[in-house]
Amino acid sequence: MYDVKGHLNEVRQSLPEGVRLVAISKYHPEDSIIAAYEEGQRVFGESHEQELARKVTALPQDIEWHFIGHLQTNKVKYIVPYISMIEAVDSLKLLREIEKQAAKAGRVVRVLLELHIAEEATKYGLTLDACRQLLADGEWRTMTHVQICGLMMMASNVDDEAQICQEFQTAADFFDEVKARWFADDPAFCERSWGMSDDYHLAVNHGSTMVRIGTTIFGPRQY
Ligand SMILES: *Cc1c(COP(=O)(O)O)cnc(C)c1O
Repeated sequence: MYDVKGHLNEVRQSLPEGVRLVAISKYHPEDSIIAAYEEGQRVFGESHEQELARKVTALPQDIEWHFIGHLQTNKVKYIVPYISMIEAVDSLKLLREIEKQAAKAGRVVRVLLELHIAEEATKYGLTLDACRQLLADGEWRTMTHVQICGLMMMASNVDDEAQICQEFQTAADFFDEVKARWFADDPAFCERSWGMSDDYHLAVNHGSTMVRIGTTIFGPRQY
């Protein structure tokens, strides 16, 4: 039996003050989530709508769920009623659908814009220029049921630490640009979600405020 509690506490102790932990529980059984919950962990991340729906029903109601995967617009309506944050918004179309469904549900949904900076790792995310364009376009300002809280990205899955650090730094610099140009007066725009099991030690040196860690806490995923 993998020692979830021990690993969770090791990760926590290694995080600097001000960096929050999202425990990525996708493909892990509910027992593992309960073990982390018993140690006080309340923020968990999932990447599949159906798996999330099942866990939300079965697990304590005070868990804050983050959706971290690629979200299809036709799935938005299922998660909007209970999701705490949608981390991977990668198109205006998706943002519009979240606005629409959140308005229907009578709530404000917190989101992050996902950047595509890595050379591979994912085919999703906005290029820096696409992100600038989305913000410059300004439609997001009319959306009263979404709150853009920051940026999210994944670094390349490579061994070259210099490359990983460069990608995190690109994201950190871009955050500063976006903050200054569009969110200078908005304290809610403050999150930099980067760092996973293999690279979170580097991410926290490059401005991360939120790390998304699965394997180190829960062990190998059970597909
Ligand atoms: C699965 C996943 C993680 C966690 O990865 P680990 O290597 O298990 O820590 C973080 N972010 C995203 C977007 C993921 O899909």
